Amino acid sequence: MEKRKVTVIGSINMDLVTKTEVIPKVGETVMGESFFTIPGGKGANQAVAAARLGAEVTLIGCVGDDMFGKDLHEHLEKEGIILNNVEPVTHVSTGTATITLSKGDNSIIVVSGANFEVTPEMVRKNESVIADSDVVLLQLEIPLESVMEAAKLAKKHNKTVILNPAPIQALPKELLSLVDYLTPNEHEQELLLAANSLAPDELEEIRSKCIVTKGPEGVFIYDQGEKQIKGFEVEAVDTTGAGDSFNGALAVSLSEGIELKEACKYANAVGALSVTKLGAQSGMPTKEEVERFLQQREDDKS
Ligand code: ADP
Repeated sequence: MEKRKVTVIGSINMDLVTKTEVIPKVGETVMGESFFTIPGGKGANQAVAAARLGAEVTLIGCVGDDMFGKDLHEHLEKEGIILNNVEPVTHVSTGTATITLSKGDNSIIVVSGANFEVTPEMVRKNESVIADSDVVLLQLEIPLESVMEAAKLAKKHNKTVILNPAPIQALPKELLSLVDYLTPNEHEQELLLAANSLAPDELEEIRSKCIVTKGPEGVFIYDQGEKQIKGFEVEAVDTTGAGDSFNGALAVSLSEGIELKEACKYANAVGALSVTKLGAQSGMPTKEEVERFLQQREDDKS
């Protein structure tokens, strides 16, 4: 089958992780244990998930004209992602998350940097890419008006739009009506439905678009009432990036014309496999790994 086209419009970050026994107080200097960098950002993570599952993935986003931007570009290129539409910008740094890990706790500072240079104009410049995709996948780590512009253009060209409403914020009703699927986790769903002053029929419409992810339980969809698509039992090692893996997989599956429940089952398998390994992107499975896993689970049943 010809590769299906998934376009992701979203964030690209470098996570800067420091492990330390003691977190310094204001004005204090301490010696840390180790330091490492990990590629991240929900847009980039979801693009990697989709690319590993065999889709032709185009990422639209911005990085800074700096060392992290170059590293991320190289890294995403190796994943086979089309980056013609990732713009390096000169006046701000690549998006970063500075993470301090200490005895099982963490503190995080996120600097959006170049991610906030993904303007509605930049999205409009990429209308032909959107028009040429099967599915458009969005999150909320770029300016809201750019997410809105992307959803409008995608709908203009009759494309399926998935919005992963993370990090959650109050969303305009117009955006909610433009998307086909919303993929909040349990916590995000509560805030999503509470944040808007919605009339009962609007609430119903939004609910009907929700695919609510609930960790090991899998997902809940609304199909003439609430319906669970069960998750897969696995030994979880690191749940970072489970949601991003799920979203990337859902986009690929829907782009192949697979019906919703079956697509959710596939995305549950991808989410489950991702938690069996360390790291967000590094834990994301390939198409072959998912096929083997699903086959194995089928064999175990019979
Ligand atoms: P988020 O990472 O956004 O909080 P979830 O934790 O709900 O999202 O995980 C997304 C999906 O990943 C779940 O719907 C499920 O398919 C899969 N998943 C997550 N955690 C587990 C787990 N412990 N065991 C099996 N599947 C999991």
